[in-house]
Amino acid sequence: MSVTQEPVPGPFLVVSAHAGDFVWRAGGAMALASSRGADVTVLCLSFGERGESARAWREGKQLAEIKSIRRDEASRAAEVLGATAEFADAGDYPLRESAELVDTIVRWYRQLQPAVVLTHPLADPYNPDHPAAARMATAARVFAQAAGYDAPGEPLGAPPVFMFEPHQPELCDFRPQVLLDITEVFSVKRRAMECLTAQQHMWDYYTDLARRRGVQLRRNAGPNLGLPHSTMAEAYMRLYPEVTGMLR
Ligand SMILES: [Zn+2]
Repeated sequence: MSVTQEPVPGPFLVVSAHAGDFVWRAGGAMALASSRGADVTVLCLSFGERGESARAWREGKQLAEIKSIRRDEASRAAEVLGATAEFADAGDYPLRESAELVDTIVRWYRQLQPAVVLTHPLADPYNPDHPAAARMATAARVFAQAAGYDAPGEPLGAPPVFMFEPHQPELCDFRPQVLLDITEVFSVKRRAMECLTAQQHMWDYYTDLARRRGVQLRRNAGPNLGLPHSTMAEAYMRLYPEVTGMLR
């Protein structure tokens, strides 16, 4: 009897404005992909050292130390998820958009040749760094596709871009278009979240969100029988249309 094996997914690239963002919002997708054998890389454009490290500042720590703490936390969280963390150290609050940083991201695309890209949505009135990261990540993707763009490596294909759920989705033009079942890796995601001790207040928030999205996943997956379940999920938006040979 032959066993049908799922194909190994292609490389994943996650572009994260700050060192923690990828864990809360895409940790399940990353853990799932790596559990299937995919190479998963997260590019943290900054450490979130100014804007997302309030506890460390309250404790009287200084900038260099805070950056080091956030780097260590994010690296450990990525490792738990089966991913590799890279850091551009471009600064936060503000994360400044620049041609140099876009070029850096292009070079990562060309080197990694991701089959899937994850980043922030293009709107977030609470956090200008998040849309800035999304604008640079999506611009760099287009540049990396251009045969004439001067960077090493082959032109990029057309990896789909999934935008992960922001903290207050209703105010960020976020509509869940994809609900990803992360039940089997949720314990891994939770362990990764717990690496981020600077943002302990987020652990339960994102556990609750996964539970709520899990309820919605079940509601969209079959008859509404009200049966108990423990499905956990993450929500995503797509930037580009899905390409398919058959509607299903
Ligand atoms: Zn952030």
